[in-house]
Amino acid sequence: MLDLSKNVKDSSFENEAEPLKEINLSKEELIEISRGFYKWLGDKELYEYANEMLDSKDHLQFKNTKYRINDFGEISGITYSDALFHEVYIGMNREYTLFDAQALNHEVMHSIDFKMNQKLPSNSYYGFHEVPTYTIDYLFFDYLEKMGYDLTEVNKLKFKKIEYIKGLASYSLLKLQLSSFNKFDFKDFSNERLKQGMNSFVRKNLLEVYSELLANILYKQIKDNKKYGIDNLKRFIYTNLPINEMPDFSFINMSKQDLLNVSQNIGSEFLNSKVSKK
Ligand SMILES: [Zn+2]
Repeated sequence: MLDLSKNVKDSSFENEAEPLKEINLSKEELIEISRGFYKWLGDKELYEYANEMLDSKDHLQFKNTKYRINDFGEISGITYSDALFHEVYIGMNREYTLFDAQALNHEVMHSIDFKMNQKLPSNSYYGFHEVPTYTIDYLFFDYLEKMGYDLTEVNKLKFKKIEYIKGLASYSLLKLQLSSFNKFDFKDFSNERLKQGMNSFVRKNLLEVYSELLANILYKQIKDNKKYGIDNLKRFIYTNLPINEMPDFSFINMSKQDLLNVSQNIGSEFLNSKVSKK
């Protein structure tokens, strides 16, 4: 996990994303964009669950306030699953850009994930809940492009996403290093200091970077062969990863080497975009 994150991280810390153009999409418009996306995706089961969420207006709360700020910038949406009554709620803050469409669509995927298989933290390896949503984010960019949305804005969304993940990787690794006064090297995984530094916060973030890599591979599988890829996405959703074992993703045809390759790709993707900017 550390190796993967090291490949992803961006050590410059100096990237500034261009702000998105302001557009005012109404709640109804945002709902219809997301509905259109899940229809376009072409899987009946996912589409039905998406509709179930998008049609239950009282479970869909939009606030017209700016973001609440967390360590990495912002929280734009949150999905809450009531395990007892099996109900799902979405809360959204809007920023009045195209990002709102991505944020709602992302949260709808969380709701689909919850509805398809409630993965309770007590019986499932926790921390991979962003895999289906990140996969969907990438497909959503393709959808926006196909629907003729402003390409510059769609590219800004993509950039924002990659930058977020790189920031997460960089920040967590830095925090890990600082926690041990820079006294361990990342090659020695058995290091006591490393274990001490790996608190739940760092672990959560590194798992999110890991999830991004898995999502990247799933996205590519779907691009190459839609049916096969979407079946793997659903297999991932329906599978409870054993809580006390090192997660193994061979059941959706992903090897350690695949993950390593993708992490290197993301690492260089950013370098390339930086060079071309100048
Ligand atoms: Zn999420």
